Amino acid sequence: MSDQTCMEECVVVFLDRLRRGHRNVVLTGAGVSTASGIPDFRGPSGLYSRLSQRVFEIDFFYEQPEDYYRIAIEHIHTLADKEPNITHQMLAVLEQQGLIEAVVTQNIDGLHQKAGTRKVIEFHGDVLRYRCTNCSKTYDRSAVDAMIRADGLPNCDCGSLIRPGIVFFGDPIPMDALIESQKLAQSAQVFVAMGSSLAVNPAAGLAMAAHQAGATLMIINKGRTHYDPIADKRFEVDLSEFSQAVMNRLSISRTK
Ligand SMILES: [Zn+2]
Repeated sequence: MSDQTCMEECVVVFLDRLRRGHRNVVLTGAGVSTASGIPDFRGPSGLYSRLSQRVFEIDFFYEQPEDYYRIAIEHIHTLADKEPNITHQMLAVLEQQGLIEAVVTQNIDGLHQKAGTRKVIEFHGDVLRYRCTNCSKTYDRSAVDAMIRADGLPNCDCGSLIRPGIVFFGDPIPMDALIESQKLAQSAQVFVAMGSSLAVNPAAGLAMAAHQAGATLMIINKGRTHYDPIADKRFEVDLSEFSQAVMNRLSISRTK
């Protein structure tokens, strides 16, 4: 289906499938957060082109932690200050209404939680949590930012370096997120991928796992994705417009 002309139709199909499904799961990628002013990391104005991909490599962090934190406190930690957009809000409403079981995200901005979604599985961690590289004691962002401003580096009470809870290139994906998302993908009757080109595993592989387990696969994205050939429904729409249309439809059906 193409843009605009089908928006209403897309929304009707989307909600109909969710209502008929059970244990539905949504996977979100960078496209879900662009409307909150967070550029796609890989896009032309994305963080990688502004910062250098090296900033997101674990070796860089351990070799030059002061340089990392000097950049991060301005460009990465501040992602948490952004506000959720209509798509985050729409997904929180779908969860409240029992239409989705969980959101699995590739994003690190924490905006699903900020929008009120309760069950969020983060593949790449987030910018809110920090932990000691030695004793694993956890710290929140305000404590870490204060230490960076005072000393250039955040150090634990035990004297060791504190690291961010994001997953760097070179870090393993958190095992609990992997296990839980696999379980969710395999038990979902509907699996929705939003705002992701489905290029990066293992998040992308969840779409395949769900498809193989018999789920209806719906892909909602502006632009092609790697899994278009196996999608049951594919909506090429602007996510904010789509989400607004879903919210309108939900409020109509609530007042009926
Ligand atoms: Zn420690």
